[in-house]
Amino acid sequence: MVDSYDYEIVVIGAGPGGYVAAIKAAQEGKRTCIIESARFGGTCLNEGCIPTKVFIKTANVSDEIKAAADFAVEGVDPSKITVSMTGIQDRKNVVVNQLVNGVKGLLRSNRVAVINGHAAFLDAHTVIVDEKKVTSEYFIIASGSNALIPGFIAYEGVNHIITSKEALDLEHAPQTIAIIGGGAIGVEFAYLFNKLGSQVAVFELMDHILPAVDPEVAGMAQKRLEKDGVKFCLGVKVKKIKDDCVYYESDGRENLHPAEVILMAVGRAPNTDGLGAEKLGLEFNQKAIRTNNRLQTNLSNIYAIGDVNGRAMLAHTASREGIVAVQNICGTFAEMNYERIPSCIYTEPEIACIGFTEVQAKEKCKNTQIGKFPMTANGKSLIERDTYGVIKVILDGDLNEILGVHLYGKHATDMIGEISVAMAGELTADEIIATVHPHPTISESIPEAFMIAGGKAIHC
Ligand code: FAD
Repeated sequence: MVDSYDYEIVVIGAGPGGYVAAIKAAQEGKRTCIIESARFGGTCLNEGCIPTKVFIKTANVSDEIKAAADFAVEGVDPSKITVSMTGIQDRKNVVVNQLVNGVKGLLRSNRVAVINGHAAFLDAHTVIVDEKKVTSEYFIIASGSNALIPGFIAYEGVNHIITSKEALDLEHAPQTIAIIGGGAIGVEFAYLFNKLGSQVAVFELMDHILPAVDPEVAGMAQKRLEKDGVKFCLGVKVKKIKDDCVYYESDGRENLHPAEVILMAVGRAPNTDGLGAEKLGLEFNQKAIRTNNRLQTNLSNIYAIGDVNGRAMLAHTASREGIVAVQNICGTFAEMNYERIPSCIYTEPEIACIGFTEVQAKEKCKNTQIGKFPMTANGKSLIERDTYGVIKVILDGDLNEILGVHLYGKHATDMIGEISVAMAGELTADEIIATVHPHPTISESIPEAFMIAGGKAIHC
Protein backbone atom coordinates (compact mmCIF):
# COMPACT_ATOMS: atom_id res chain seq x y z
CA MET A 1 0.00 0.00 0.00
CA VAL A 2 2.66 2.51 1.18
CA ASP A 3 4.90 1.70 -1.81
CA SER A 4 2.09 2.62 -4.18
CA TYR A 5 2.69 6.27 -3.25
CA ASP A 6 5.62 8.33 -4.53
CA TYR A 7 6.51 9.31 -0.96
CA GLU A 8 5.59 8.43 2.62
CA ILE A 9 5.56 12.08 3.70
CA VAL A 10 5.20 15.18 1.53
CA VAL A 11 5.64 18.58 3.18
CA ILE A 12 4.09 21.63 1.51
CA GLY A 13 6.08 24.80 2.24
CA ALA A 14 9.72 25.17 3.27
CA GLY A 15 9.52 27.76 6.05
CA PRO A 16 10.77 26.97 9.58
CA GLY A 17 7.81 24.60 10.01
CA GLY A 18 8.11 22.73 6.75
CA TYR A 19 11.86 22.35 6.37
CA VAL A 20 12.29 21.16 9.96
CA ALA A 21 9.44 18.64 9.51
CA ALA A 22 10.98 17.35 6.27
CA ILE A 23 14.43 16.90 7.80
CA LYS A 24 12.98 15.14 10.86
CA ALA A 25 10.85 12.88 8.63
CA ALA A 26 13.89 11.89 6.55
CA GLN A 27 15.89 11.25 9.73
CA GLU A 28 13.10 8.90 10.83
CA GLY A 29 13.71 6.95 7.64
CA LYS A 30 10.64 8.13 5.75
CA ARG A 31 10.72 8.70 1.98
CA THR A 32 10.21 12.46 2.17
CA CYS A 33 9.63 15.27 -0.29
CA ILE A 34 9.26 19.01 0.27
CA ILE A 35 7.49 21.33 -2.16
CA GLU A 36 8.19 25.07 -2.10
CA SER A 37 6.69 27.66 -4.45
CA ALA A 38 9.02 30.56 -3.56
CA ARG A 39 12.22 30.86 -1.50
CA PHE A 40 13.38 28.19 0.92
CA GLY A 41 13.25 29.38 4.52
CA GLY A 42 9.78 30.92 4.08
CA THR A 43 8.66 34.17 5.66
CA CYS A 44 11.02 33.77 8.61
CA LEU A 45 14.28 33.73 6.69
CA ASN A 46 13.29 35.90 3.73
CA GLU A 47 10.79 38.48 4.98
CA GLY A 48 10.40 38.09 8.72
CA CYS A 49 12.51 37.17 11.73
CA ILE A 50 15.93 37.32 10.11
CA PRO A 51 15.85 40.44 7.89
CA THR A 52 14.11 42.52 10.58
CA LYS A 53 16.83 41.64 13.05
CA VAL A 54 19.54 42.55 10.52
CA PHE A 55 18.02 46.05 10.30
CA ILE A 56 17.67 46.28 14.08
CA LYS A 57 21.28 45.19 14.59
CA THR A 58 22.54 48.05 12.43
CA ALA A 59 20.33 50.53 14.29
CA ASN A 60 21.73 49.25 17.60
CA VAL A 61 25.36 49.35 16.42
CA SER A 62 24.87 52.93 15.28
CA ASP A 63 23.38 53.81 18.68
CA GLU A 64 26.27 52.21 20.56
CA ILE A 65 28.84 54.01 18.44
CA LYS A 66 27.08 57.32 19.04
CA ALA A 67 27.36 56.58 22.76
CA ALA A 68 31.10 55.81 22.46
CA ALA A 69 32.06 58.60 24.86
CA ASP A 70 29.97 56.95 27.60
CA PHE A 71 32.30 53.94 27.29
CA ALA A 72 35.40 56.18 27.33
CA VAL A 73 36.02 55.60 23.63
CA GLU A 74 37.42 58.80 22.14
CA GLY A 75 37.48 60.22 18.65
CA VAL A 76 33.89 59.51 17.63
CA ASP A 77 31.78 62.44 16.49
CA PRO A 78 28.18 61.24 16.97
CA SER A 79 26.88 63.84 14.51
CA LYS A 80 28.89 62.14 11.75
CA ILE A 81 27.39 58.68 12.32
CA THR A 82 24.89 57.79 9.60
CA VAL A 83 23.31 54.55 8.45
CA SER A 84 23.32 53.46 4.80
CA MET A 85 20.00 51.87 3.85
CA THR A 86 21.57 50.27 0.78
CA GLY A 87 24.35 48.97 3.02
CA ILE A 88 21.77 47.34 5.31
CA GLN A 89 19.99 45.88 2.28
CA ASP A 90 23.29 44.37 1.10
CA ARG A 91 24.00 42.91 4.53
CA LYS A 92 20.44 41.60 4.77
CA ASN A 93 20.88 39.81 1.44
CA VAL A 94 24.18 38.26 2.54
CA VAL A 95 22.72 36.98 5.83
CA VAL A 96 19.47 35.76 4.27
CA ASN A 97 21.19 34.03 1.34
CA GLN A 98 23.62 32.26 3.65
CA LEU A 99 20.75 30.93 5.78
CA VAL A 100 18.60 29.98 2.77
CA ASN A 101 21.51 28.09 1.26
CA GLY A 102 22.05 26.44 4.62
CA VAL A 103 18.46 25.16 4.61
CA LYS A 104 18.89 23.82 1.07
CA GLY A 105 22.12 22.08 2.12
CA LEU A 106 20.44 20.48 5.16
CA LEU A 107 17.58 19.16 3.01
CA ARG A 108 20.12 17.76 0.54
CA SER A 109 22.33 16.13 3.14
CA ASN A 110 19.28 14.52 4.77
CA ARG A 111 18.18 13.18 1.36
CA VAL A 112 14.87 15.04 1.24
CA ALA A 113 13.53 15.21 -2.33
CA VAL A 114 12.87 18.82 -3.32
CA ILE A 115 10.29 20.11 -5.78
CA ASN A 116 10.07 23.79 -6.71
CA GLY A 117 6.50 24.80 -7.50
CA HIS A 118 3.04 25.44 -6.11
CA ALA A 119 1.24 22.41 -4.67
CA ALA A 120 -2.55 22.05 -4.96
CA PHE A 121 -4.51 19.07 -3.63
CA LEU A 122 -6.35 16.83 -6.09
CA ASP A 123 -7.36 14.41 -3.33
CA ALA A 124 -6.17 13.46 0.16
CA HIS A 125 -3.21 11.50 -1.25
CA THR A 126 -2.35 13.57 -4.34
CA VAL A 127 -1.14 17.08 -5.05
CA ILE A 128 -0.46 18.58 -8.41
CA VAL A 129 2.64 20.72 -8.93
CA ASP A 130 3.02 22.36 -12.33
CA GLU A 131 0.84 19.68 -13.96
CA LYS A 132 2.82 16.86 -12.34
CA LYS A 133 1.06 14.59 -9.84
CA VAL A 134 2.83 13.81 -6.58
CA THR A 135 1.31 11.16 -4.31
CA SER A 136 2.00 10.49 -0.66
CA GLU A 137 0.73 8.48 2.27
CA TYR A 138 0.88 11.55 4.55
CA PHE A 139 0.91 15.29 3.90
CA ILE A 140 2.10 18.03 6.22
CA ILE A 141 0.76 21.42 5.21
CA ALA A 142 3.18 24.21 6.21
CA SER A 143 2.08 26.96 3.83
CA GLY A 144 2.52 29.84 6.29
CA SER A 145 0.69 33.15 6.33
CA ASN A 146 0.35 36.51 4.59
CA ALA A 147 0.20 40.03 6.00
CA LEU A 148 -3.39 41.00 6.74
CA ILE A 149 -4.89 44.09 5.11
CA PRO A 150 -8.05 44.47 7.19
CA GLY A 151 -11.39 44.91 5.46
CA PHE A 152 -12.84 47.08 8.26
CA ILE A 153 -10.63 50.00 7.19
CA ALA A 154 -11.80 52.01 4.16
CA TYR A 155 -9.07 52.75 1.62
CA GLU A 156 -9.57 55.84 -0.56
CA GLY A 157 -7.41 57.91 -2.88
CA VAL A 158 -3.69 57.42 -3.34
CA ASN A 159 -2.10 55.63 -0.38
CA HIS A 160 1.41 54.57 0.36
CA ILE A 161 0.37 51.52 2.31
CA ILE A 162 3.04 48.90 2.83
CA THR A 163 3.32 45.70 4.84
CA SER A 164 6.36 44.34 6.67
CA LYS A 165 7.51 42.76 3.40
CA GLU A 166 7.86 46.08 1.57
CA ALA A 167 9.17 47.84 4.69
CA LEU A 168 12.24 45.62 4.48
CA ASP A 169 12.91 46.76 0.91
CA LEU A 170 12.65 50.53 1.48
CA GLU A 171 15.53 52.45 -0.06
CA HIS A 172 15.34 55.22 2.52
CA ALA A 173 13.79 55.64 5.94
CA PRO A 174 10.62 57.72 5.47
CA GLN A 175 10.45 61.08 7.22
CA THR A 176 7.13 60.09 8.75
CA ILE A 177 5.60 56.66 9.15
CA ALA A 178 2.27 55.60 10.65
CA ILE A 179 2.15 52.03 11.88
CA ILE A 180 -1.26 50.42 12.24
CA GLY A 181 -0.98 47.75 14.94
CA GLY A 182 0.96 47.68 18.21
CA GLY A 183 1.79 43.96 18.27
CA ALA A 184 5.29 42.51 18.06
CA ILE A 185 5.80 43.35 14.37
CA GLY A 186 4.41 46.90 14.70
CA VAL A 187 6.53 47.64 17.77
CA GLU A 188 9.74 46.26 16.25
CA PHE A 189 9.26 48.47 13.18
CA ALA A 190 8.36 51.46 15.39
CA TYR A 191 11.63 50.94 17.27
CA LEU A 192 13.61 50.47 14.06
CA PHE A 193 12.28 53.46 12.10
CA ASN A 194 12.61 55.70 15.14
CA LYS A 195 16.29 54.72 15.35
CA LEU A 196 16.66 55.35 11.60
CA GLY A 197 15.38 58.90 12.08
CA SER A 198 11.72 58.64 11.05
CA GLN A 199 8.91 60.27 13.00
CA VAL A 200 6.84 57.28 14.06
CA ALA A 201 3.22 57.05 15.20
CA VAL A 202 1.62 53.74 16.22
CA PHE A 203 -2.17 53.25 16.15
CA GLU A 204 -3.57 50.42 18.27
CA LEU A 205 -7.15 49.39 19.02
CA MET A 206 -6.35 47.99 22.45
CA ASP A 207 -5.35 50.22 25.33
CA HIS A 208 -1.90 48.65 25.54
CA ILE A 209 0.78 47.40 23.16
CA LEU A 210 2.16 43.85 22.85
CA PRO A 211 -0.82 41.65 23.83
CA ALA A 212 1.26 38.61 24.88
CA VAL A 213 3.41 40.64 27.27
CA ASP A 214 2.31 41.51 30.81
CA PRO A 215 0.78 45.02 30.48
CA GLU A 216 3.01 46.41 33.24
CA VAL A 217 6.14 45.29 31.38
CA ALA A 218 4.73 46.32 27.99
CA GLY A 219 3.93 49.71 29.54
CA MET A 220 7.58 50.15 30.53
CA ALA A 221 8.63 49.38 26.96
CA GLN A 222 6.07 51.86 25.66
CA LYS A 223 7.40 54.60 27.98
CA ARG A 224 10.95 53.98 26.79
CA LEU A 225 9.89 54.16 23.14
CA GLU A 226 7.90 57.34 23.86
CA LYS A 227 10.94 58.88 25.51
CA ASP A 228 12.84 58.14 22.30
CA GLY A 229 10.13 59.93 20.28
CA VAL A 230 7.64 57.24 19.19
CA LYS A 231 4.03 58.45 19.43
CA PHE A 232 1.43 55.89 20.56
CA CYS A 233 -2.29 56.35 19.90
CA LEU A 234 -3.86 53.57 21.96
CA GLY A 235 -7.52 52.55 22.27
CA VAL A 236 -8.20 54.14 18.88
CA LYS A 237 -10.03 52.74 15.89
CA VAL A 238 -8.52 53.36 12.46
CA LYS A 239 -11.54 53.87 10.17
CA LYS A 240 -10.09 55.08 6.90
CA ILE A 241 -6.85 55.63 5.04
CA LYS A 242 -7.19 58.37 2.47
CA ASP A 243 -4.50 60.13 0.51
CA ASP A 244 -1.74 59.19 2.92
CA CYS A 245 -3.69 60.19 6.00
CA VAL A 246 -4.80 57.86 8.77
CA TYR A 247 -8.33 58.71 9.94
CA TYR A 248 -8.96 57.33 13.38
CA GLU A 249 -11.61 57.58 16.04
CA SER A 250 -10.56 58.41 19.56
CA ASP A 251 -13.00 59.21 22.40
CA GLY A 252 -15.82 59.48 19.86
CA ARG A 253 -13.99 62.11 17.81
CA GLU A 254 -12.49 61.67 14.35
CA ASN A 255 -8.82 62.65 14.00
CA LEU A 256 -6.39 62.46 11.14
CA HIS A 257 -2.67 61.84 11.01
CA PRO A 258 -0.67 62.40 7.81
CA ALA A 259 2.30 60.13 7.05
CA GLU A 260 4.64 59.59 4.11
CA VAL A 261 4.33 55.83 4.56
CA ILE A 262 1.60 53.78 6.26
CA LEU A 263 2.71 50.37 7.50
CA MET A 264 -0.03 47.82 8.07
CA ALA A 265 0.93 45.55 10.97
CA VAL A 266 -2.43 44.32 12.27
CA GLY A 267 -1.56 40.64 12.09
CA ARG A 268 -1.20 37.82 9.61
CA ALA A 269 -3.72 35.57 7.91
CA PRO A 270 -3.06 31.83 7.40
CA ASN A 271 -2.21 31.13 3.77
CA THR A 272 -4.19 28.44 1.98
CA ASP A 273 -4.34 30.29 -1.36
CA GLY A 274 -4.71 27.88 -4.26
CA LEU A 275 -4.02 24.87 -2.04
CA GLY A 276 -7.38 23.24 -2.69
CA ALA A 277 -7.76 22.63 1.06
CA GLU A 278 -11.48 23.45 1.11
CA LYS A 279 -12.44 20.96 -1.55
CA LEU A 280 -10.66 18.21 0.39
CA GLY A 281 -13.08 18.76 3.25
CA LEU A 282 -10.47 20.08 5.67
CA GLU A 283 -12.02 21.88 8.62
CA PHE A 284 -11.15 25.52 9.21
CA ASN A 285 -11.09 27.90 12.15
CA GLN A 286 -11.85 31.08 10.19
CA LYS A 287 -8.89 31.12 7.73
CA ALA A 288 -6.73 28.70 9.74
CA ILE A 289 -6.66 24.94 9.17
CA ARG A 290 -8.04 23.40 12.35
CA THR A 291 -5.73 20.96 14.15
CA ASN A 292 -5.58 19.24 17.51
CA ASN A 293 -2.51 19.51 19.75
CA ARG A 294 -0.91 16.63 17.81
CA LEU A 295 -1.21 18.77 14.66
CA GLN A 296 -3.70 16.38 13.04
CA THR A 297 -6.42 17.89 10.88
CA ASN A 298 -9.82 16.23 10.59
CA LEU A 299 -8.37 14.11 7.74
CA SER A 300 -6.28 11.32 9.26
CA ASN A 301 -3.36 11.51 6.81
CA ILE A 302 -3.08 15.30 6.70
CA TYR A 303 -1.31 17.44 9.31
CA ALA A 304 -1.03 21.25 9.41
CA ILE A 305 1.82 23.07 11.16
CA GLY A 306 3.07 26.62 11.59
CA ASP A 307 1.24 29.83 10.79
CA VAL A 308 -1.33 28.05 8.59
CA ASN A 309 -2.98 26.52 11.67
CA GLY A 310 -3.05 29.93 13.40
CA ARG A 311 -2.23 28.49 16.84
CA ALA A 312 0.83 30.62 17.74
CA MET A 313 2.29 32.36 14.71
CA LEU A 314 5.98 32.16 15.57
CA ALA A 315 8.91 30.49 13.83
CA HIS A 316 9.97 28.37 16.82
CA THR A 317 6.37 27.16 17.26
CA ALA A 318 6.27 26.15 13.60
CA SER A 319 9.52 24.19 13.94
CA ARG A 320 8.42 22.39 17.10
CA GLU A 321 5.05 21.60 15.52
CA GLY A 322 6.94 20.10 12.56
CA ILE A 323 8.74 17.68 14.87
CA VAL A 324 5.56 16.85 16.80
CA ALA A 325 3.65 16.14 13.56
CA VAL A 326 6.37 13.80 12.30
CA GLN A 327 6.57 12.00 15.65
CA ASN A 328 2.83 11.35 15.54
CA ILE A 329 3.00 10.14 11.94
CA CYS A 330 5.81 7.80 12.96
CA GLY A 331 3.74 6.36 15.79
CA THR A 332 5.13 8.25 18.77
CA PHE A 333 2.52 10.16 20.77
CA ALA A 334 3.57 13.82 20.99
CA GLU A 335 1.64 17.01 21.79
CA MET A 336 2.17 20.76 21.79
CA ASN A 337 1.70 22.80 24.95
CA TYR A 338 0.67 26.20 23.65
CA GLU A 339 0.74 27.74 27.13
CA ARG A 340 4.54 27.50 27.21
CA ILE A 341 5.63 29.20 24.01
CA PRO A 342 8.17 31.97 24.51
CA SER A 343 7.64 35.22 22.65
CA CYS A 344 10.36 37.81 21.94
CA ILE A 345 10.42 41.42 20.76
CA TYR A 346 13.77 42.73 19.58
CA THR A 347 13.69 46.35 20.71
CA GLU A 348 16.61 47.55 22.80
CA PRO A 349 16.27 46.74 25.66
CA GLU A 350 14.67 43.48 24.55
CA ILE A 351 11.36 42.06 25.68
CA ALA A 352 10.65 38.35 26.19
CA CYS A 353 7.84 36.49 27.88
CA ILE A 354 6.40 33.06 28.46
CA GLY A 355 3.25 31.84 30.19
CA PHE A 356 0.54 33.91 31.80
CA THR A 357 0.37 37.63 32.44
CA GLU A 358 -0.44 38.70 36.01
CA VAL A 359 -4.12 39.22 35.15
CA GLN A 360 -4.40 35.83 33.38
CA ALA A 361 -2.65 34.10 36.29
CA LYS A 362 -5.01 35.67 38.83
CA GLU A 363 -7.98 34.34 36.86
CA LYS A 364 -6.63 30.78 37.18
CA CYS A 365 -4.91 30.76 40.55
CA LYS A 366 -6.13 31.98 43.96
CA ASN A 367 -2.69 32.55 45.47
CA THR A 368 -0.39 34.21 42.96
CA GLN A 369 2.95 35.60 44.06
CA ILE A 370 4.70 38.28 42.05
CA GLY A 371 8.40 39.09 42.06
CA LYS A 372 9.84 42.11 40.25
CA PHE A 373 13.56 42.62 40.05
CA PRO A 374 14.59 46.04 38.64
CA MET A 375 17.49 45.99 36.18
CA THR A 376 18.94 49.00 38.03
CA ALA A 377 20.12 46.47 40.63
CA ASN A 378 21.96 44.29 38.10
CA GLY A 379 25.70 44.87 37.65
CA LYS A 380 25.99 43.63 34.05
CA SER A 381 23.17 45.97 32.98
CA LEU A 382 25.12 48.85 34.49
CA ILE A 383 28.25 47.75 32.63
CA GLU A 384 26.20 47.61 29.44
CA ARG A 385 24.94 51.14 30.11
CA ASP A 386 21.25 50.28 30.14
CA THR A 387 19.58 49.62 33.47
CA TYR A 388 16.05 50.31 32.28
CA GLY A 389 13.89 47.21 32.66
CA VAL A 390 12.55 44.55 34.96
CA ILE A 391 12.28 40.82 35.46
CA LYS A 392 8.72 40.02 36.49
CA VAL A 393 7.89 36.50 37.64
CA ILE A 394 4.45 35.17 38.46
CA LEU A 395 4.08 32.09 40.69
CA ASP A 396 1.41 29.85 42.09
CA GLY A 397 2.19 30.51 45.74
CA ASP A 398 0.70 27.22 46.93
CA LEU A 399 2.56 24.98 44.51
CA ASN A 400 5.69 27.12 44.00
CA GLU A 401 4.94 26.65 40.31
CA ILE A 402 6.05 29.14 37.62
CA LEU A 403 3.00 30.58 35.85
CA GLY A 404 4.63 33.30 33.78
CA VAL A 405 7.84 35.27 33.31
CA HIS A 406 8.15 38.62 31.56
CA LEU A 407 11.58 40.08 30.91
CA TYR A 408 12.46 43.58 29.82
CA GLY A 409 16.16 44.24 29.65
CA LYS A 410 19.41 43.65 27.79
CA HIS A 411 19.63 40.15 26.22
CA ALA A 412 16.12 39.24 27.40
CA THR A 413 15.52 37.19 24.25
CA ASP A 414 18.53 35.01 25.03
CA MET A 415 17.49 34.56 28.65
CA ILE A 416 13.91 33.39 28.18
CA GLY A 417 15.11 29.94 27.01
CA GLU A 418 16.12 29.18 30.60
CA ILE A 419 12.54 29.75 31.72
CA SER A 420 11.22 27.62 28.82
CA VAL A 421 13.36 24.72 30.05
CA ALA A 422 12.31 25.31 33.65
CA MET A 423 8.62 25.38 32.78
CA ALA A 424 8.86 22.35 30.46
CA GLY A 425 10.65 20.46 33.25
CA GLU A 426 8.10 21.76 35.79
CA LEU A 427 10.86 23.17 37.99
CA THR A 428 9.68 25.10 41.02
CA ALA A 429 10.74 28.61 41.94
CA ASP A 430 12.91 27.16 44.71
CA GLU A 431 14.75 24.99 42.20
CA ILE A 432 15.56 28.06 40.08
CA ILE A 433 16.74 29.88 43.20
CA ALA A 434 18.93 26.88 44.09
CA THR A 435 20.51 26.86 40.62
CA VAL A 436 23.85 28.69 40.54
CA HIS A 437 23.82 31.40 37.87
CA PRO A 438 27.08 32.87 36.56
CA HIS A 439 28.31 36.34 37.50
CA PRO A 440 28.33 38.99 36.17
CA THR A 441 25.33 38.25 33.96
CA ILE A 442 21.87 39.60 33.54
CA SER A 443 20.50 36.08 34.04
CA GLU A 444 21.69 36.11 37.67
CA SER A 445 18.74 38.43 38.33
CA ILE A 446 16.27 35.67 37.45
CA PRO A 447 16.66 33.76 40.75
CA GLU A 448 16.59 37.12 42.52
CA ALA A 449 13.16 37.88 41.01
CA PHE A 450 11.93 34.50 42.27
CA MET A 451 13.36 35.31 45.72
CA ILE A 452 11.37 38.57 45.73
CA ALA A 453 8.20 36.64 44.90
CA GLY A 454 8.81 34.48 47.96
CA GLY A 455 9.82 37.27 50.32
CA LYS A 456 13.24 38.87 49.97
CA ALA A 457 16.06 39.04 47.44
CA ILE A 458 19.73 39.37 48.29
CA HIS A 459 20.55 42.18 45.85
CA CYS A 460 17.43 44.29 46.08
P1 FAD B 1 6.39 30.37 6.38
O1 FAD B 1 7.68 30.75 6.96
O2 FAD B 1 5.49 31.48 5.95
O3 FAD B 1 6.68 29.43 5.14
C1 FAD B 1 5.64 28.96 4.34
C2 FAD B 1 6.23 28.58 3.00
O4 FAD B 1 5.25 27.85 2.27
C3 FAD B 1 6.59 29.78 2.14
O5 FAD B 1 7.94 29.68 1.74
C4 FAD B 1 5.64 29.69 0.94
O6 FAD B 1 6.24 30.13 -0.26
C5 FAD B 1 5.34 28.20 0.89
N1 FAD B 1 4.04 27.86 0.28
C6 FAD B 1 2.83 28.40 0.57
N2 FAD B 1 1.87 27.77 -0.15
C7 FAD B 1 2.49 26.83 -0.91
C8 FAD B 1 2.02 25.87 -1.84
N3 FAD B 1 0.72 25.73 -2.10
N4 FAD B 1 2.94 25.09 -2.46
C9 FAD B 1 4.26 25.20 -2.17
N5 FAD B 1 4.75 26.09 -1.28
C10 FAD B 1 3.87 26.88 -0.65
N6 FAD B 1 8.66 34.75 14.39
C11 FAD B 1 9.51 34.51 15.39
O7 FAD B 1 9.45 33.44 16.01
N7 FAD B 1 10.45 35.43 15.76
C12 FAD B 1 10.56 36.63 15.13
O8 FAD B 1 11.41 37.44 15.49
C13 FAD B 1 9.66 36.90 14.07
N8 FAD B 1 9.73 38.07 13.40
C14 FAD B 1 8.89 38.28 12.35
C15 FAD B 1 8.98 39.49 11.68
C16 FAD B 1 8.14 39.74 10.61
C17 FAD B 1 8.24 41.06 9.88
C18 FAD B 1 7.21 38.74 10.20
C19 FAD B 1 6.30 38.99 9.01
C20 FAD B 1 7.12 37.55 10.86
C21 FAD B 1 7.94 37.31 11.96
N9 FAD B 1 7.87 36.13 12.67
C22 FAD B 1 8.71 35.91 13.71
C23 FAD B 1 6.88 35.09 12.33
C24 FAD B 1 7.53 33.96 11.53
O9 FAD B 1 8.12 34.50 10.36
C25 FAD B 1 6.49 32.93 11.16
O10 FAD B 1 5.81 32.52 12.33
C26 FAD B 1 7.13 31.71 10.51
O11 FAD B 1 7.80 32.07 9.32
C27 FAD B 1 6.06 30.67 10.19
O12 FAD B 1 6.67 29.57 9.60
P2 FAD B 1 5.87 28.60 8.62
O13 FAD B 1 6.81 27.51 8.27
O14 FAD B 1 4.56 28.25 9.21
O15 FAD B 1 5.51 29.47 7.34
